[in-house]
Amino acid sequence: GKSRAKAKSSEDGAKAKGGPALTGSFFKDLPISKRTLRGLQASKYVKMTEIQSGAIPPALFGRDIMGEARTGSGKTLAFLIPVLERLYRSRWSNLDGLGAAIVSPTRELAYQIFQVLSNIGQEHELSAGCIVGGRSLEEEQNAVATMSMLVATPGRFLQHLDESPGFEAASLLILVIDEADRILDFGFQETMQNILGQLPGERQTLLFSATLHGSVHRLGRAALRSPEVISVHHDA
Ligand code: ADP
Ligand code: MG
Repeated sequence: GKSRAKAKSSEDGAKAKGGPALTGSFFKDLPISKRTLRGLQASKYVKMTEIQSGAIPPALFGRDIMGEARTGSGKTLAFLIPVLERLYRSRWSNLDGLGAAIVSPTRELAYQIFQVLSNIGQEHELSAGCIVGGRSLEEEQNAVATMSMLVATPGRFLQHLDESPGFEAASLLILVIDEADRILDFGFQETMQNILGQLPGERQTLLFSATLHGSVHRLGRAALRSPEVISVHHDA
């Protein structure tokens, strides 16, 4: 694509080291908290990838996002930074209930997101949990009631919304739907509709996907409000 040429030399440098293609834009130039910036520095994140420099500024501004970029392009930070900032700016505390939910298609992916969140969020005083099943529901129920941020698979998230006493998402500020194409491929269309039905309409929603084909667009229409669409196409 055209936008790629601009950052070609730095991209090639990053590729040589095996990381994703980087742009010339720095995380430190974003309007974000020192806490998040220190978390990023601790993980050695300095320059942004294309989907990050495209999606993070409008997401920080409060816009809904529909982001399309291939696997390995850095979508995780593109949504985790806006999530942390949204809760931090709202002075979210453990007493405020669930502030952010990140829905991911598989246990493995959810756990990876949770680990990145724990790393870049380490300077914040926000609690985070990962609910993917595999443990007893009761064990998870004690934990979810106190979490400000959750990373979850669709089925388990809905199960807690339906069954866990004291757990609700009535004041949720921000929802992330990651790998929306795979969520739909796995047959979670109806589960997602049921989840959306239990979330407040006044919220921010960020949807990311490797492709934005027909059914992803339909989910987007149900979940997002006048989203900013950011599509990153790579030649390689
Ligand atoms: P995606 O979700 O698009 O498949 P990930 O968010 O999992 O991509 O990122 C892919 C890899 O790139 C991870 O190893 C991650 O640590 C790394 N990465 C992401 N963003 C950056 C960045 N800005 N600088 C350096 N490495 C990055
Ligand atoms: Mg990903």
